[in-house]
Amino acid sequence: MIYIGCHLTVTNGYEAMGRQMVDFGGNTFAWFTRNPRGGKSKDIVPEDVQALSAVLAEKSFGKLVAHGSYTMNLCSANPETRANGLDMLKKDLEKMEYLPGQYYNFHPGSHTGQGAEAGIEQIAEGLNKALFPEMRTTVLLETMAGKGSEVGRNFEELKEIIDRVELSDKLGVCFDTCHTWDSGYDIVNDLDGVLGKFEKIIGLSRLKAVHFNDSKNPCGSAKDRHEKLGQGFIGMEAMKRIAQHPAFEGLPFILETPNDDEGYIQEIATVKSWL
Ligand code: FE
Ligand code: FE
Ligand code: ZN
Repeated sequence: MIYIGCHLTVTNGYEAMGRQMVDFGGNTFAWFTRNPRGGKSKDIVPEDVQALSAVLAEKSFGKLVAHGSYTMNLCSANPETRANGLDMLKKDLEKMEYLPGQYYNFHPGSHTGQGAEAGIEQIAEGLNKALFPEMRTTVLLETMAGKGSEVGRNFEELKEIIDRVELSDKLGVCFDTCHTWDSGYDIVNDLDGVLGKFEKIIGLSRLKAVHFNDSKNPCGSAKDRHEKLGQGFIGMEAMKRIAQHPAFEGLPFILETPNDDEGYIQEIATVKSWL
């Protein structure tokens, strides 16, 4: 069993997202904690969050996977951008405590010319400033495609970040199928080999969520362009094998495919038919 859902907009509040996902036939979802590009964030209404919690319990949802802003870059060469990113991260994590025990995923960052090693140091530094002992959220580092100067394009880089964080028990990894494929991991022909590497380098106990996307490009393209399930280079058979693989048992799978509502409803139904 896995949990399946997609990205939803938080515009109408938290309870509305839960109810919408029930209508979509899913049992997990993701949302951007703030406008993904602009960086603004909505205030929390505690009653609304409580109402969502009731929906989650009643419908036996899996973990939810909030997504940090794309503008948040903990390892920009520009110190102002870095400080801004840290501020967003701290505020997002404070807010997540209204909905305890869920996941918060973010793109580790882009080193913008400083080199991966410096990027890794700065991301870890940011996490060391933002994580706090009482928090109940698990923060997930997303596996990246390796586009531009993205950090986290291989398992080694993610592990290096984790190793530098004091409260590393608060950290996990979100496995984006499009990104890992684009960064050069052949999840089509060698899924067991890729997961074996993940186990050896990071440890499968850190694997907490999946971004479930096909890819518009071949393995190793470092492009990061998502495709609908079965319509890209990964293909439906491989997507099905991933959803059925025991390493992903019990995890929330989030669709980030280029779809409208109807498309998501169909993809959720497709994935459920495999389980
Ligand atoms: Fe992402
Ligand atoms: Fe993703
Ligand atoms: Zn992506």
